[in-house]
Amino acid sequence: MDDGARHVWLPYAQMKTAAPPLPVARTHGSRIELADGRSLVDGVASWWTACHGYNHPAIAAAVRRQLDAMPHVMFGGLTHEPAARLAQRLCALLGGGLERVFYTDSGSVAVEVAMKMAVQYWLNRGERRRTRFLAFRGGYHGDTLGTMAVCDPEEGMHSLFHGLLAEHVIAPLPRDAGSLAQLERLLENHAHELAGILVEPLVQGAGGMLMHGPEVLRRLRALVDRHGLLLIYDEIFTGFGRTGTLFAFEQAGAAPDIVTLSKALTGGTLPLAATVANRRVFDGFWSDDPGHALMHGPTFMGNALACAAANASLDLFEQEPRLAQVQALSLALEAGLASCAHLPWVRDVRVLGAIGVVELDGAFDKEALRARLVEAGVWVRPFGNIVYLTPAFTIDADDLAFLLDAVVRVVRGMG
Ligand code: PLP
Repeated sequence: MDDGARHVWLPYAQMKTAAPPLPVARTHGSRIELADGRSLVDGVASWWTACHGYNHPAIAAAVRRQLDAMPHVMFGGLTHEPAARLAQRLCALLGGGLERVFYTDSGSVAVEVAMKMAVQYWLNRGERRRTRFLAFRGGYHGDTLGTMAVCDPEEGMHSLFHGLLAEHVIAPLPRDAGSLAQLERLLENHAHELAGILVEPLVQGAGGMLMHGPEVLRRLRALVDRHGLLLIYDEIFTGFGRTGTLFAFEQAGAAPDIVTLSKALTGGTLPLAATVANRRVFDGFWSDDPGHALMHGPTFMGNALACAAANASLDLFEQEPRLAQVQALSLALEAGLASCAHLPWVRDVRVLGAIGVVELDGAFDKEALRARLVEAGVWVRPFGNIVYLTPAFTIDADDLAFLLDAVVRVVRGMG
């Protein structure tokens, strides 16, 4: 790579000691082709965005067509067909009364918007004290100041910034009678100052790939209703098939008041996010008072290229058997990772949809592990004590077998 690489600051990396980033020349399918000629099988689909694999020709063609017509136009006072059609399709797919789409350009900002929507919903009703959220231990919702504050403050990667952040209520997920009682007590004490409850449905992703059953969401919906709060699902990780259904919350039959989407929304090709609200929330802004308008408006919201990519991605979900592929992938991940479960240095192996996790017992040298995985010909990016796989749903049988074999060999070799 040329000297320009020396001017780039990498994410989550100690720049003094981290291995230099691997220069990538191109991508295709489930492959990352490095500039030095090596080809890696991608096990994480670029932070679980590239659900159709890289360079899907249908998405590329849609973006090219849109580029000729109009790459971008401001969304303040203007709109366009790709954004309108995408909003209509997202609402139809989500169901559950979710009917208004607010576009942004990253997952963190989609969550920020959800938080602002919820707080302003109460402000518009004259309730000025409801500025806090209840969120969950093990949760991850983004890296901005607002979203860091609703991540797990102790276990999470943002504990460093604690003093800078708003204080919210961080609770255990109601998995059993004990944690449900604890959550109920917290709600008794704090419900009067809460705008809503924020949760990642079925899987807490970047906070540790922790999985919970759909009954947790049903309990949360019941608690939220009892206290008259708003329920926000962060489906930025789980949305678009990752857990086996198009949206994770479908498995619970308990819809939220607001949902956030991003990542696989464009099949991992362009930055786009959406915060989708139900009628109750939208009606809270519907007024003759201009001061009741939602006060948010990113420059690149509703970007036409990104909306065209998202529409093409939704076409692929309609035209190709994505959810069946997720089911097959789920079985293959279970079978492939099972042989790690009995290793003394492995605490847990778990699979949900197209997410496979090997949780190690104790800390390990992530840099060394990543290097060994690259030597074995795969791109996998462990964090904490978690080695996880979130491949493209379209990964072919040979690449999947190669990926699983490499990961299992490397994990076995850690003892
Ligand atoms: N919410 C969840 C559940 C996520 O997994 C992520 C990213 O990993 C985010 C929010 C933040 O999204 P972004 O990195 O696009 O800001």
